[in-house]
Amino acid sequence: MSPTLIENVHLAPVVGPEIPSGHIHVEGDRIVAVGAGPAPDVPGADRIDGTGCLATPGLVNTHHHLYQWASQGLAQDTTLFEWLTALYQVWAAMDAEVVRGAAGAGLGYLALSGCTTSSDHHYIFPKGRGDLFAAEIEAAREVGLRFHPARGSMDRGRSQGGLPPDVVVERLDEILDATAEAVDTYHDPSFSSMLRVAVAPCSPFSVSAELMTEAAALARSKGVRLHTHLAETLDEEEHCLRQVGQRPVDYMEKLGWLGPDVWFAHAIHLSDGDIDVFAQTGTGSAHCPSSNGRLGAGIARVSEMLHRGANVGLGVDGSASAELTSLSGEMRQALLFQRARYGPTALTARQALEIATLGGARNLGREEELGSLEAGKLADIALWRTGAFASAVADPVCALVFGTRQPPLARLLVGGRTVVEDDELRTVAQDELGRAGGEAHRRLMRLAAEQGFGVS
Ligand SMILES: [Zn+2]
Repeated sequence: MSPTLIENVHLAPVVGPEIPSGHIHVEGDRIVAVGAGPAPDVPGADRIDGTGCLATPGLVNTHHHLYQWASQGLAQDTTLFEWLTALYQVWAAMDAEVVRGAAGAGLGYLALSGCTTSSDHHYIFPKGRGDLFAAEIEAAREVGLRFHPARGSMDRGRSQGGLPPDVVVERLDEILDATAEAVDTYHDPSFSSMLRVAVAPCSPFSVSAELMTEAAALARSKGVRLHTHLAETLDEEEHCLRQVGQRPVDYMEKLGWLGPDVWFAHAIHLSDGDIDVFAQTGTGSAHCPSSNGRLGAGIARVSEMLHRGANVGLGVDGSASAELTSLSGEMRQALLFQRARYGPTALTARQALEIATLGGARNLGREEELGSLEAGKLADIALWRTGAFASAVADPVCALVFGTRQPPLARLLVGGRTVVEDDELRTVAQDELGRAGGEAHRRLMRLAAEQGFGVS
């Protein structure tokens, strides 16, 4: 790959001062220099004129369920528990083909919103329906995003006091074997890694204490990270109090599920003490404001968490509870939720950008490699065209975060490789990818109907 020079660009590097007119020098998959003024003369370099553009680190998505691309627009006016109860058995009908189409479309959609790294939390593995984990990994390779799939799981069905029907849960020993195999097969711990696997039992109301404990031991023995849903709704808190006699964060503490290698999705219903525990233990969280709003789950205490030193990243969450949600849009949604709750100084545009980049990188344990534009980091860069309509906004970072419509994406680089150019995916045929996502939806509905399940 020839060197790349991006020049005449407004740089918002997240770490260090902004530079109104500067350059980025990329060699291979790394940033080798970021600075003010014109780029150096580098023979053979691909020169990108960034006039009228804002350069930011690529956005990092730290919570998703890509398979849900195939079940969007259903159970529209329900709480989390009602929504899950309506959808579990539809999801039980999915196969590798559904996951492949859904994941491709979901990841392509994320790339078009400036995302260069995405995690995914896949926790339903119906038997005899192909290799679902491999299917989403194949999709990520094709689209060209850095991928952190989490091997999810559920082992506590309704007969054991859990929320999901027994048909969608797996046995503990099967889960641990499959999770270990996923890590051994796919996890790449290298600096430049395009794929790292996490261990991710689904939630306190669908997983046994034994699975949580065993999963933590497995992840720590293999040096990978831990992820689960936590404190998303008050229904969950009531469930935990009733079943285990503890609130969610206390329960996690008992199970050994706090620490710098853990990040939770949502973390909405936290006490002051919970926030302090997150800060003290280095436990992260993925804020998913659109999903939280859609399900009426609540508003996370993000500005208080940041103020007290707890790490927060962003996530779009699964598409079935956040239809067609862009990651750039979640910066705005996060900012507006915090301001609606705490007032206009609760979250700045730059803080929203920071949680969407460096905060996400910390959740995934990649703050050394990702999340800011600095020499030595991986060349994951979003170049936003803020020179046309957005040029009427004096501050380009404000234009990016405050605007309802994302500024055009001039370029998206992942490890120096162009994935998006002028709002078009360059790695795959964009329209085909989108249509395959629609076909995945129709296929899932057909498969579910064949098993006698439907939802509207
Ligand atoms: Zn989720």
